[in-house]
Amino acid sequence: MDFAFDARTEELRSKLLAFMDEHVYPAEQVAEEQRARLASPWDTPAVVGELKAEAKRQGLWNLFLPDAEYGAGLTNLQYAPLAEITGRSPHLAPTATNCAAPDTGNMEVLFQFATEAQKKQWLEPLLAGEIRSAFAMTEPDVASSDATNIETRMIRDGDDYVINGRKWYISGAMNPECAVFIVMGKTDPDGADIRRQQSMILVPRDTPGVEVRRAMRVYGYEDHSHGGHAEVVFHDVRVPAANLIGEEGGGFAIAQARLGPGRIHHCMRLIGMAERAIELMCRRAVARTAFGKPLAAQGVVQNWIADARVTVEQLRLLVLKTAWLMDTVGNKGAHTEIQAIKIATPRAVVDILDSAVQLYGAGGVSQDFPLAELWASARTLRLADGPDEVHQRSLARREIKRYV
Ligand SMILES: Cc1cc2nc3c(=O)[nH]c(=O)nc-3n(C[C@H](O)[C@H](O)[C@H](O)COP(=O)(O)OP(=O)(O)OC[C@H]3O[C@@H](n4cnc5c(N)ncnc54)[C@H](O)[C@@H]3O)c2cc1C
Repeated sequence: MDFAFDARTEELRSKLLAFMDEHVYPAEQVAEEQRARLASPWDTPAVVGELKAEAKRQGLWNLFLPDAEYGAGLTNLQYAPLAEITGRSPHLAPTATNCAAPDTGNMEVLFQFATEAQKKQWLEPLLAGEIRSAFAMTEPDVASSDATNIETRMIRDGDDYVINGRKWYISGAMNPECAVFIVMGKTDPDGADIRRQQSMILVPRDTPGVEVRRAMRVYGYEDHSHGGHAEVVFHDVRVPAANLIGEEGGGFAIAQARLGPGRIHHCMRLIGMAERAIELMCRRAVARTAFGKPLAAQGVVQNWIADARVTVEQLRLLVLKTAWLMDTVGNKGAHTEIQAIKIATPRAVVDILDSAVQLYGAGGVSQDFPLAELWASARTLRLADGPDEVHQRSLARREIKRYV
């Protein structure tokens, strides 16, 4: 086993680390200040556009997409350490490099399943970073971790589909740059095969009947930098049948395909968040004194830091192994590992961030340090892309099946 990164990964890592130091970290404060002066908090601060231009100029662009023509052509194993670096500044760096969710998952769906015309209309401007997108599946009225519950109706009417339904926690939808939704709904609600009832369709944001109703909060945060998480209602929204992605009834399968890479990307970035938390812990611990000695000299603080380091090293190895499996045997072959990292990483990173918050005292829960917001963001990943328990159930069933 070779634990070293290959030459291309090393080259991109050093470029990306320099980009973070020279451009991203200094822009964090600037973005906040600019946002406070914007007409709407959902608009994008100018500095984000500058970061995107610089990342594109340096070739730090679309790193997530394995296809060499449309994206950077990296394997998952090559992309993993790069995504980790962007996770150190999760509100800026993924967007700056055009590697932010939910656009990445949407671009992958379009790359894999869209027609040439759909690619031209939506994938190309997304890859160019000219527009943003959202993925609309979850509904407030049904347990949406089970996609067969989805109630939104997409009913064929002549050459169109007519969509009615209510979605929430639709990430990115508050951002006016979000030009298109990939909507999941039922085209055949009474079909015998419950996994063939759903389809996915492209809905331009400006289609009559699309109502972006309100921003949903995350532990009180509005998550502006993420483009918010909106409640979106579709009232008799009519779009051409040509907007369907893939075939009618294929929505469930596309959703499964979308989530493999998306889950590992989140885990990679979470590890970057944990690294940032360790750095912040160490800086604080050496700089602050209580009861006659630096916090760094307290055994309990040393335990937090040591445990965090041990955990991060374990998680990174599992994430890299998963990435390698996805590259060598495919997402299906890496199913158990994808679920394992999806369960293990957010839980562990939430704990690390919690220790960091504790070490920072009141500062830890304040707006003056990134820890509170990072904690909230990491905590949501125990729910988003499927709650822990759903993954535990399916992983355990596969394990047990071998003995039945
Ligand atoms: C910040 C954030 C961003 C999100 N972004 C998006 C987005 O962009 N697009 C989108 O469509 N959705 C998005 N979501 C929604 C997310 O994917 C759902 O919240 C998630 O799939 C769970 O669905 P639910 O909320 O309906 O929970 P439910 O399905 O009601 O489940 C509630 C709880 O029940 C338990 N449970 C459910 N099933 C099982 C089981 N089989 N075994 C044991 N326990 C179980 C779990 O504890 C689970 O947490 C986002 C959510 C958050 C918090």
